Amino acid sequence: RRPAYAEAHARVDTGRGDVDLSARTVQAAWNRRAIAVAAGERSYAIEVGSAIVRDRLGVLTAEATKTLVVTDRNVLAAHGSTLAAALPGAEPLELEPGEQHKTPRALEQIWRAALAHDLDRESTLVAFGGGVVSDITGFAAATWMRGTRWLAVPTTLLAMVDASVGGKTAVDLDDSKNSVGAFWQPAGVLCDIALLSTEPQRGFVSALSEVVKTALIGDPELLDLLEARADAVVARDPSSLIEIVLRSVAVKARIVSLDERESGLRRVLNLGHTIGHALEASTGYRCYTHGEAVSLGLVAALQVGQRLGVTSHPTSERVRGLLMRLGLPVELRANGLDDALAILGRDKKRQGTYIHFVMVSAPGRVETQLLPLEQLRRLAQLN
Ligand code: NAD
Repeated sequence: RRPAYAEAHARVDTGRGDVDLSARTVQAAWNRRAIAVAAGERSYAIEVGSAIVRDRLGVLTAEATKTLVVTDRNVLAAHGSTLAAALPGAEPLELEPGEQHKTPRALEQIWRAALAHDLDRESTLVAFGGGVVSDITGFAAATWMRGTRWLAVPTTLLAMVDASVGGKTAVDLDDSKNSVGAFWQPAGVLCDIALLSTEPQRGFVSALSEVVKTALIGDPELLDLLEARADAVVARDPSSLIEIVLRSVAVKARIVSLDERESGLRRVLNLGHTIGHALEASTGYRCYTHGEAVSLGLVAALQVGQRLGVTSHPTSERVRGLLMRLGLPVELRANGLDDALAILGRDKKRQGTYIHFVMVSAPGRVETQLLPLEQLRRLAQLN
């Protein structure tokens, strides 16, 4: 029964104390709004709330022999006091911020700190930062002592809704993004919305395209919610953010639980990414953020879907309107698109001269078709 029990989002030891205490502990676990990511004995819970780090991080690291917190300069400047309140006396390892530092060198910095602090297998690494910090720290945890426990405390919206689910960890090798990595699930994730108050605006808005994508894949109510509260979401209203993070995480958790190692089902998560990645790559990763490219990739996927009779015109218009209200780009410029379509064939998800292309059949529902690359190029053209 152990794997099944592991999938519970909280565990309460009823062997200690009386019935009242057990009942209160169960109630407290229920009140911590958590999503269980079911991965057998590697299952873990993602807790979502506002100002939860102070109370919960100490509890989650209580049993570790030692704890090493990894963060970056910007996050430490903005939220060092929260960290100090949660883990008094912690001496975090401060990495250089940014994708350009998601390198084997940063990984080695963590290994050396682990060595200096004498970390063993019962120790815990804590990733306190955006997707870059959590990808590097997760990979360090996967490799230190052939696998050490780690926790993620994401500080960007993207790291909360996307990087916190699925156990993918990696570093870049020169220009090759995420080329060295491992699947290594964290032992827990704390999504503390209060940390988002200082996230730079462009990154925050960019991550909303992943939220829209997630809604389209598996949660029509999330789409309604985004429409109803678009202004509040952009203004980072905490209760709206808690709701969208919980819902996004739940959809992704459901999908990756069914397909932990990307055998095919996870493919639906590529909605908007096939053309999005090509746009990013063809513009040298300088023009669009990943999320902005995904927004344009979604618009392109809606158009392809419409031309194949999979996506209705009203659905297409609805999503486009929402992306615009959230401050995301929706205008595909002909030149940029042509260049992107020309390199579509280099997509790593491609099989031969065909490509699995994900389209929206209705809000909350997607359909994947294996399309000849040439046909996809034609369907994605503006005219
Ligand atoms: P990031 O980690 O580079 O953070 C963006 C910038 O914001 C950095 O300069 C950082 O220092 C700063 N920052 C982070 N949190 C802050 C806060 N609360 N206040 C002030 N500044 C803050 O970028 P990101 O968008 O979070 O993550 C992108 C990375 O995530 C990419 O490397 C991508 O490959 C990875 N990723 C991984 C997965 C996965 O499944 N493992 C999924 C999506 C993305």
